[in-house]
Amino acid sequence: MDSKISILTHTRDSFANLIYQKLGKGYEHASIIYQEWYRQGQITGHHPAFKNAKNLLNDIVALTDFSYLSCANSTQEGQTGKFLLKTTDGMEIESVIIPMQAGNTLCVSSQVGCRMGCSFCETGRMGLLRHLEANEIVSQLFVAKFLFRATIRNIVFMGMGEPFDNYDNVMQAIRVLSDPYGLGFGRNHLTISTSGCIDGIQKLMDEKEPIPNLAVSINASNDALRNKLMPINRKHDMKALYDQMHAFCQKTKRQILIAYVLIKDQNDTVEHADELAHYLRGLAVKINVIPYNPQSRDRYQAPEAAVIEAFGFRLRERGYYTLLRQTKGQKIMAACGQLGNVKLRQLIRTSKDAN
Ligand code: SF4
Repeated sequence: MDSKISILTHTRDSFANLIYQKLGKGYEHASIIYQEWYRQGQITGHHPAFKNAKNLLNDIVALTDFSYLSCANSTQEGQTGKFLLKTTDGMEIESVIIPMQAGNTLCVSSQVGCRMGCSFCETGRMGLLRHLEANEIVSQLFVAKFLFRATIRNIVFMGMGEPFDNYDNVMQAIRVLSDPYGLGFGRNHLTISTSGCIDGIQKLMDEKEPIPNLAVSINASNDALRNKLMPINRKHDMKALYDQMHAFCQKTKRQILIAYVLIKDQNDTVEHADELAHYLRGLAVKINVIPYNPQSRDRYQAPEAAVIEAFGFRLRERGYYTLLRQTKGQKIMAACGQLGNVKLRQLIRTSKDAN
């Protein structure tokens, strides 16, 4: 028997076309089901189009896989919530709902673990277990919207994983999330955050369809420091990254969000701020400074409040629009690069030790 069509993997058009291919009819009815599913999270069958077409409704439903990831756990700190989703092969991924001035932002994961190995990152310590499928990425929004009843305004790919390492699935998820007949997120409400994969930036800017916003996690002001914090820099150094960001800004006329995780005694002096300002000269950017959020027995520490202020102040003095992000969700590890399930990491360590 053919496998079912996963509705969370498809745009309205591709879903309705697949149904039509299987049944030889039902494009319009499949479209109605698609819209109802994404707007209400359930199929009621109450639409007038189904009044005399109950069999067609049943046939379409029978061909469709409506499943989404189940929620294994959720934690709340203030208004920030983190939830843990279980995949069908027993993996766990994390997503965070962060209240912002302009409404809730959902931070989604694109992989289970990550192979980029940034030294300050919980997820990086796990290594890569596998890519997420497009429907597993869309599932995260689905759970936030229909299980937690959260109104999500923006989605950022800043959870577990390097999105450009899973390019095709991430782009398919973006097509689904932005389908006006479904969830309808404008591309300017979607942000892909990369650790600096220049091939991914190039692919994104070559896309024919509208592209989402781009964020680049810099976290250092020179190559020596970035080599230490982010191993990807040994492959693509800061000059190569600058050139790629410059090409992106030129071609797309878009601004890039620069993320800078501020770590005590590593990258947090005003001299670092000066060096960063110099490095970014000529690029259309705004900067998001995120104070590091340490875990127990962590080798890095959070910067002092005065140091954070001074760092941000210096960047503003240098003419950069700079946001100083509060580490909302301090205890639940919800800040950038801080996702990564402790239980899952322990499991991986145990299985590595056993081999
Ligand atoms: S910061 Fe991002 S790219 Fe780096 S290891 Fe963590 S999840 Fe991967």
